[in-house]
Parts: sequence; structure tokens; C-alpha cells
Amino acid sequence: MMPIINLSAVLSLYGQSYSQQGFLGGATGMMMGFDIWYFILVIPALLLSLFASAKVKSTFAKYSGMTAQSGYTGVRAARRILDQNGLQQVTIEGVKGHLTDHFDPRTNVLRLSESTYGDNSIAAIGVAAHEAGHAIQHATGYVPNKIRGALVPVAQFGSSIGPYMAIFGIILQLSFLIQLGIILFFGAFLFYLITLPVEFNASSRALRLLEEQGILGDAELKSARKVLSAAAMTYVASALSAFASLLRLILLSRGRNGRR
Ligand SMILES: [Zn+2]
Repeated sequence: MMPIINLSAVLSLYGQSYSQQGFLGGATGMMMGFDIWYFILVIPALLLSLFASAKVKSTFAKYSGMTAQSGYTGVRAARRILDQNGLQQVTIEGVKGHLTDHFDPRTNVLRLSESTYGDNSIAAIGVAAHEAGHAIQHATGYVPNKIRGALVPVAQFGSSIGPYMAIFGIILQLSFLIQLGIILFFGAFLFYLITLPVEFNASSRALRLLEEQGILGDAELKSARKVLSAAAMTYVASALSAFASLLRLILLSRGRNGRR
């Protein structure tokens, strides 16, 4: 599902910035004294992300064992939802891996993972419908989705370069470098923030369409909601992590100024 798939992208983006911050945190710690904000803000947010990631895996596993009464598979459910929304031009492909499902807006291809594509579980159908929800968002010009797309390069650049700039700015006492780094990282934070309505909306569309099309029954819909909510939590954790990192940079720069 985009949540989880994207989670890997988000985590790699994050892993990168965290490891940089871990290294730089140590470097600045030596130069500035103890970087308390790293432990108060960044580490708990990282732990929350790890917890959310484990939770989505266990929830998916649980509902992967429950077959939907309708007999639909992930690919059939997605195809039906796409067709019912006039999206015959969106093709569905299989993709390797577990929870690597995603919709690619550049090629209009919906890719379903091995655990989703041909699987007739509630979890698989929920994830496939969620990805179809992203395809509908793209086709209908859902505004938060457009903003999110525009912020992708900002997020990539900001979360990799921003913390470096801010921390070197603090070390070298160059306030313009600190401010530029914080602004860049703020752009990355906005990306994680706008991802939330996009993900929540894709899931609510999915559940409504699964109900309308009679693909899942009432009790099954509740289970599918649990899978999608667990996935959404990973995005909430990512946004909180980005906020924690941003706040740490701001507090570090302020603490530095205050001591001078
Ligand atoms: Zn998604």
C-alpha cells in the first residue's frame, strides 16, 4: 500500500537524515556541549516510527489470514474500482516484495505486491483499494495530492541538505546558513504534513468504494479499516518525526544564540 511502500521511501529518506543527524549530533555535541534535544525530541519520534512500522506489519499479517466472502482478489478489487470510476486507462501490474504496493502517477500504473495482487484476503483487498484511491485522487486533481507531488523534490533536498546546513551554520556561527537550513527542512516537514490528508483520503475513498461495490461486507470493512488505519499511523509518525527534527534544529540554533 502506498502507506507502507511509501513508508520504505520515507524511512530511507528519514534513515538518511537521522544517520546524518546522528553523526552531526555527535559532532556538534562535542563542540556545543550535550545535544539534549536529540534525546528529548528526535529519539522518541524515531521509536514511534519503528513502533508504527511494526504495528502495520502485524495488522496486515493478521488480516492476510482472513478471506473475503466475495472471493475478490486484490487485483480484481482494484480493477473494478478503477473501471467504475472511468479509469480504464490505469493499468495494474505486479511488483516484487511485501507491502511494496503503490500507484505511479507518472505512468498511470498501479503496482500491487505479491502479498496483495492475487490474494483474496481482507488485508490485500483493503490495500489494493487504497492504491486505487490514489489513482482516483490523481485523475480527479485532488488538491492536497497535487501539492504533495510538487513538494517531493523539496522534501528530498530539504531533508538531506537542510540539517547539514543548519548544523554547520550553528558550528560556524553563520546565521544565514542556519536559517536556510531550517527553511529547507521546514519544506520537508510540509511534505510529511500534506501527505496526511492524501493518505487518509485514499483510505476513506477505498472503504466507501469497497462498500458501494459490495466487495467487502460490514464486518470485513471494519477489519480493512484497521489495516488502513495502522498504515496511516506510519505517516503520522513520519510527520511527527519531521516536526521533532525541525524543532530540534530551531532549539539548537536558539540555544547557541542565547549562549553568545
Ligand atoms: Zn497511500
